Amino acid sequence: MTVIKTKNQYEKQNPLTQYPRPPFPKQPQERPGSVDLMDPAPDHGEGSYQGFGRLKGRKALVTGGDSGIGRATVIAYAREGADIAFNYLPSEEANAQEVVKLIEAEGRKAFPIPGDISDEAFCKKLVEEAVEKLGGLDILVNNAGRQTAQKSIAELTTEQFDNTFKVNVYALFWISKAALPHMDAGATIINTTSIQAFDPSEILLDYAQTKACIVAFTKALASQVAEKGIRVNAVAPGPFWTPLQPSGGQPQDKIEKFGSSTPLGRPGQPAEIAPMYVLLASQESSYITGEVMGVTGGMMPY
Ligand code: NAD
Ligand code: MG
Repeated sequence: MTVIKTKNQYEKQNPLTQYPRPPFPKQPQERPGSVDLMDPAPDHGEGSYQGFGRLKGRKALVTGGDSGIGRATVIAYAREGADIAFNYLPSEEANAQEVVKLIEAEGRKAFPIPGDISDEAFCKKLVEEAVEKLGGLDILVNNAGRQTAQKSIAELTTEQFDNTFKVNVYALFWISKAALPHMDAGATIINTTSIQAFDPSEILLDYAQTKACIVAFTKALASQVAEKGIRVNAVAPGPFWTPLQPSGGQPQDKIEKFGSSTPLGRPGQPAEIAPMYVLLASQESSYITGEVMGVTGGMMPY
């Protein structure tokens, strides 16, 4: 596990030079990918995130918590005082065990729960097990996602289309439905959508549609559960340096210049988006619901 030594996130810095800028080497990986094979190594805040007790005693379930945005969120939540159950695919066990160590280093409880969320029965089991182990549920982060680029609609198979919708859309519905009966006033749900919901790439025909679905799901569910005092929001990342991208999310020639078209000229690091997941989980965001928060290096098209 590589720990990036950087200044903490509270010192003034130039965002243009704070993190690596393209060009990057080509680095194909098999889906779902591993953070340990990424060059340069991503920063999940291991060496920089400072907690202030904003989630003290809270119980959180995070999907896709082994790597990328989910890993950075888990580290931040643990440092803010939460216990965490997190899901990932069985093939990601090595990355998951690194995350367990990071949570436990903060004196918080870690419950890794591997399994495939494209399966409804597993989604129900995941929530039941998380609630049982945590002793309740205050925060649900629906963050797992599949992204596989295809040049044309002719190459996009029904199998891929179906699995992308299962992982990115159906699982959100199944997990949220199972989780809500365990959540009470002050609880929050945070869904990871994407800038792709608003500015879809031609090579992400299926993926972009699922991310648009997540925006509508977030807004409709937020209206529905507001009367219970439960808030539902979404985060829309721009290009972030995570295993999703080199493991088929982008063609390798796009990895070389990944993030270069943003005004800041580089991809975001997972450590730079975790604070948004902390804000939306904490009581500081008490008047924010049904929102989509862009964290895009300046690319959000509104
Ligand atoms: P990541 O690869 O680190 O995380 C995605 C995770 O999804 C994987 O770790 C895996 O555990 C999980 N996953 C995939 N298929 C699964 C399945 N069938 N069952 C259970 N878990 C499964 O990459 P990331 O970029 O941190 O992705 C997190 C979220 O951010 C995703 O929803 C992604 O769509 C979204 N996002 C990423 C970017 C980016 O540029 N990296 C941009 C916009 C949105
Ligand atoms: Mg992963």
